[in-house]
Amino acid sequence: MSLFDFSKSVLQPIELNTFLNNRVQIFVKRDDLIDELVSGNKWRKLKYSIENALALRKNGILTLGGAWSNHLIATAAACHAAGMSSIGIVRGEELNASSNVNLQRCTELGMKLIFISREEYAERNEPFRQEYWKELHPDYLFVPEGGADYHGVIGCQELGIELNGFDHVFVAQGTTTTSCGILLGLPEKTKLHVVPALKGFDSLSEMKPLLYEVLNSNELVREYLDRVVVHPEHHFGGYGKWTNELLQFIERMKKETGVPLDKIYTGKAFYAMCDTIERGELDNSRICFVHTGGLMNG
Ligand SMILES: *Cc1c(COP(=O)(O)O)cnc(C)c1O
Repeated sequence: MSLFDFSKSVLQPIELNTFLNNRVQIFVKRDDLIDELVSGNKWRKLKYSIENALALRKNGILTLGGAWSNHLIATAAACHAAGMSSIGIVRGEELNASSNVNLQRCTELGMKLIFISREEYAERNEPFRQEYWKELHPDYLFVPEGGADYHGVIGCQELGIELNGFDHVFVAQGTTTTSCGILLGLPEKTKLHVVPALKGFDSLSEMKPLLYEVLNSNELVREYLDRVVVHPEHHFGGYGKWTNELLQFIERMKKETGVPLDKIYTGKAFYAMCDTIERGELDNSRICFVHTGGLMNG
């Protein structure tokens, strides 16, 4: 098996009796089956950074995240599997490598953790701050928070290319890297529905710079964004928050379809999909839900 084996991500048809009258065909793209420890989309986002780091003869990857970051653990796991080392810059100078199980796991996978203040972390996307970190660790390839860069988008474009023949595709959003990549890989006739897990998140403005990195044309960026439908109203209170209604929904979907959903990302996106079908907006169409994973968070 090669390092990046996405063949476990099957396209699973599901039946939801509630929607019999809407005559929709629903499939779930099971990227959650790619790995037990790491969200499937995190592997997709890291694939080309790992390959690039190897080609550049780097020692490994330097990246950053919060103490519970899925991206940190994904980077630690991917570098470990590739035989490279990794450095994780973590938000919160009061923390240490045994502060929580996520950080412990990162350490076990060989990641060196560096804890910085929230003030310094707040500058994480400023060019001067990134230059400073790169100069401190010249033997490491720098990957921004959440894998949100050119390589991340290209890795997820491959996921989009795997989704042929759908009228509508639904996916959860954090940094928007996954959704930008999918959008680039989808056939032109397919609409991409994005569901941010954050409250007050401007999906289209967030997607613009990432798409531009690949397309290099404002006109093309606009053209692609015309095929995006944003569902900003299903954040259930915001990032890392949820309600009993969401938990009950997740439970019910597990019973009815056998598909487990998480409460941070995929549960919210699946809810948005069901809500849109119920409103009759997707009648007689073929729909794909991209299951990005996240199940290790409970
Ligand atoms: C990280 C994550 C996302 C968000 O992906 P982005 O590329 O940051 O938009 C979605 N779903 C799950 C399960 C995740 O872990």
